[in-house]
Amino acid sequence: NTQDFHNIKQSRMIYTKPQILKPPRCDVLMMTPWFAPIVWEGTYNSEILNEQFRQRNVTVGLTVFAIKKYVVFLKTFLETAETYFMVGHRVNYYIFTDRPEEVPKVALKEGRNVVVLQVQNYPRWQEISMRRMEMLSYFSQQRFINEVSYLVCVDVDMRFNDQVGVEILSDLFGTLHPGFYTAERRSFTYEHRPASQAYVPSDEGDFYYAGGFFGGTVTEVYKLTKKCHEAIMVDKANGIEAIWQEESHLNKYFLYHKPTKILSPEYLWDDNLGTPEILKKRRFLAVPKNHAAIRNK
Ligand code: UDP
Ligand code: MN
Repeated sequence: NTQDFHNIKQSRMIYTKPQILKPPRCDVLMMTPWFAPIVWEGTYNSEILNEQFRQRNVTVGLTVFAIKKYVVFLKTFLETAETYFMVGHRVNYYIFTDRPEEVPKVALKEGRNVVVLQVQNYPRWQEISMRRMEMLSYFSQQRFINEVSYLVCVDVDMRFNDQVGVEILSDLFGTLHPGFYTAERRSFTYEHRPASQAYVPSDEGDFYYAGGFFGGTVTEVYKLTKKCHEAIMVDKANGIEAIWQEESHLNKYFLYHKPTKILSPEYLWDDNLGTPEILKKRRFLAVPKNHAAIRNK
């Protein structure tokens, strides 16, 4: 049901026509060399996209992990998601936690549900972060495949600050890391040790993708998370951990399985980086955290 766009008849809608000689943005790259759109404000029409996805009655799963102390981020995360995430569409929030009793009750709009999934914790924050790949692959196959069309997998130490809608959806999507979108390849912090399964040679790489925002159809997210989890387990057996844990494995995966859509840093921003001219919206923002007080607690 994800490729049924040809069955959709758009209803009458008034908007200015696209102009072949006037691209909507000239200051940023709008398309990768493999013809995947890069999503920036001003490049798409939400009205057209919303109509297409509403006709398909798409349900989107938003997965988030709140293990140990990180449950403190859930209230703001969920409240802001109710205001800005996939407004007008069906949404299931999948909250992975070891503390189900500490999941806040947040008022939900129609067509939106919270599902709490109790999972184990681990002593090290790096392990908690990496094990998300294992849990996402397991639940994709067990449950999500029967309940949603797309999965959106994000960090919890975040708040929505502007619209994040169906313009992000595609078979497989990743997000440009806000710290590296203008960087040269040599500055990308890929795993550079050949002993790791996440190894990327210094003369390869398209973009540096963020670990905190990726997704796609359930089938594609299953393939991605399963492959990354298996690579993480091989590394563990070999006594090595990739420099940026699962983010390193995600970057290796996207190098050889090119995403079909890429989200600009509008979708994962940190105000510590200021607000550059090209950034017309700050849709999803890092919530400052005291690492000493929150990690390994
Ligand atoms: N996480 C968690 N509990 C922890 C550590 C991490 O739930 O003790 C989850 C949480 O969803 C968090 C994500 O793993 O957003 C990634 O960790 P973190 O946000 O600390 O990484 P950073 O964004 O600082 O690189
Ligand atoms: Mn984070």
